[in-house]
Amino acid sequence: MEGGIGYRQKNPLKDNPRLGCSKWSYYFSQIMKVGIFGGTFNPIHYGHLRAAEEVREQLGLDRVLFVPSGNPPLKRKNIAPARQRFEMAKIAIKDNRLFTLSDIESRLPGKSYTVKTIEALQKENPQMEFSLILGIDAFLDIPNWWHPERLVNLSHFIIISRPGYAFLDLQSSPYIKIKKPILKDLDASDSGSHKATLLSQREAVLLRLTPLSISSTEIRRLVRLCSSIKYLLPPAVQSYIMKNKLYKS
Ligand code: ATP
Ligand code: MG
Repeated sequence: MEGGIGYRQKNPLKDNPRLGCSKWSYYFSQIMKVGIFGGTFNPIHYGHLRAAEEVREQLGLDRVLFVPSGNPPLKRKNIAPARQRFEMAKIAIKDNRLFTLSDIESRLPGKSYTVKTIEALQKENPQMEFSLILGIDAFLDIPNWWHPERLVNLSHFIIISRPGYAFLDLQSSPYIKIKKPILKDLDASDSGSHKATLLSQREAVLLRLTPLSISSTEIRRLVRLCSSIKYLLPPAVQSYIMKNKLYKS
């Protein structure tokens, strides 16, 4: 599909790397392909960063937009405040000019809804074509999200591999139907991708990435045990965690 995921276009931001996200649409008439990478990022780690880099490169996205979530309504155990999770993401992506960050969810008090976030981003940035980047685990969780049927109609999807989850698990998703051998082949491969269509008729690309078995849960556990978290996340994020005494209890 022309203009869809995987269709490489000239990067319109090449000469203007410093522009902020909300200004992009004003300056350019060409469609920019942007991957929205949402998450709690509690904290952000190399599993997130490497995945975003590989997705961007393999699919020729112009930008990856990291969107740290807001604060959950009931204080979930061991979740850093939205402001601090946003700060850590900011520190983590600062050296990559093709990574950008949005506070659209973290600046608001309370719970955020992906549907509302995407709708707001689309309204603010009509020149951008958004695809939602989700790990297999997150994609399988969509039925539990706010207005899932609306969500799967809103944007394209990029479903990425994650250690501990198999593409074959997507057979249980009510939003996508892909033949078993295709999913099995993808699970067995080191790299590769498959272009599919959601039942909502939106495009979905399944992408096999370098497996990095890192999770925020494990990082928080290690901090609690006073064990090393070195090489699991950027050193500056590690320093931030130590300085602010996060995840100690
Ligand atoms: P937690 O353990 O607290 O749930 P997490 O490591 O799963 O944290 P999230 O912020 O929940 O991180 O995930 C944000 C997105 O990044 C999700 O779509 C998730 O599937 C994806 N993701 C997280 N870690 C990895 C990884 N190591 N490889 C690929 N995708 C990942
Ligand atoms: Mg998670």
